[in-house]
Amino acid sequence: MSARIRPQPKIMEIALYQGGTSTIAGRDDVVKLSSNENPFGAGDLARQAYLRAGHDLHRYPSTDHANLRTALGAQFALNPAQIICGAGSDEIISFLCQAYAGPGDEVLYSQHGFLMYRISALAAGATPVVAPERARMTDVDAMLAHVTKRTRLVFIANPNNPTGTMIPMSEVERLAKKLPSQTLLVLDGAYAEYAEGYDGGAALVTARQNVVMTRTFSKLYGLGGLRVGWGYGPQHVIDVLNRVRGPFNLSSIQLAVAEAALGDAAHVTRSLSENARWRDWLAKRLTELGVPTDRSHANFVLARFRDAAQAEACNAALLADGLIVRQVGSYGLPEALRITVGDEAACRRVAHVIAAFMQGQA
Ligand SMILES: *Cc1c(COP(=O)(O)O)cnc(C)c1O
Repeated sequence: MSARIRPQPKIMEIALYQGGTSTIAGRDDVVKLSSNENPFGAGDLARQAYLRAGHDLHRYPSTDHANLRTALGAQFALNPAQIICGAGSDEIISFLCQAYAGPGDEVLYSQHGFLMYRISALAAGATPVVAPERARMTDVDAMLAHVTKRTRLVFIANPNNPTGTMIPMSEVERLAKKLPSQTLLVLDGAYAEYAEGYDGGAALVTARQNVVMTRTFSKLYGLGGLRVGWGYGPQHVIDVLNRVRGPFNLSSIQLAVAEAALGDAAHVTRSLSENARWRDWLAKRLTELGVPTDRSHANFVLARFRDAAQAEACNAALLADGLIVRQVGSYGLPEALRITVGDEAACRRVAHVIAAFMQGQA
C-alpha cells in the first residue's frame, strides 16, 4: 500500500467476501446448494420478460422505478411511495448504512447475523457491534443490552440466515418499541415469503416511524443473478435513501424481469410448496441420522455436527459426491453446514451421502 494513497479508516477491516463455490473440477453432475437459490430457477414469466427486454437496450431505464413499485404495492398492499428498489437487498442495506451511520456510530446485529451488515457498516465508517444469540435465535434482551447512545441501526434477519430460525412478531415489536429515538430497526426479510402467514414486518413498518423492511427477488423468485431487492419504510427514511441511490441503479432488464416475476403466482406457489415439503423431509431425515437442525422457516437447513472437524469431514464427503453446501465458520458456526433445500432428487442425494458419512462415523 502507498503511504499516502489510503482508503477510509475502516475499509481494510472488511474481509473480502467468499461467495459460494459453484463448480468442482472434473464433475458435470454438480448440485449447488450453497447460496439458497431456488432449485427451479426463474419462472417462465420472468424468462419471457428477460427476452423481451432485450429489444430496448438503447433506452435509459426509469429512474423512479414507478412500475415495479406500483406492482409491489399492489402485491403486498403497501404504499408505493414508501418503497425503494435496489441492486439486491444488499444495496438497500448499504444505502441504510451510508445514510444513517458514520464514524463514531454503531451498527448492531446478532451473533450469527448476515455478513453484509458488518461489511456495509465498515464501508460507511461505522463500528459494527454484535449481540449474542440464545441457542441460535435472535435474543431481543441481548440486542437491547448492546444498544448505546451511538447505535444508529439495528439489523435483524427474520427468518435468519444461516440459522433459519425466526422470532415472533411480538418480540420484534418489543424491540422496536424499546429502541431509543435515534435508532432505526431494519427487518431483513430475504426469506419472509417462506415463513407462512408472515408479512416480513410490513404492518409494523406501517405502524411506526423507526422500522424499515428489506426484501429480495434473489431467493423465492429465483433471480439471484438479476440483483433486485427492495425496501419499505417510513416516508422520511425512503426520502433519505433516495438521495443516496444513484438515478439509474437498476437496469431496464432488472425492472422488467422483477415485475414479471412478481406476477408469476404459479411459480411462486410451486416453489413454496416444494420447498416446505422437502425442507421438512430433509430435516427429519437428518435428525434420524443423528444430525440435528433447528426448525427452519427458510429455504435451507443448518445441519449441526459434533464439532468443526466432523462438519469439515462431512463437507468433504458431500463435495466428493458433487454436492456443494455452505460452510458457515465465517458466521461463527464452524460445527455446522448450511444446506439449501434443492429439488427432491437433490435432497435425497444429500440425505444419502450424509447417511453413509454418519455410518462411517459410528
Ligand atoms: C440472500 C440474503 C439477502 C439478500 O440478498 P440480495 O441478493 O442482495 O437481495 C439479504 N439478507 C439475507 C439474510 C440473505 O440471506
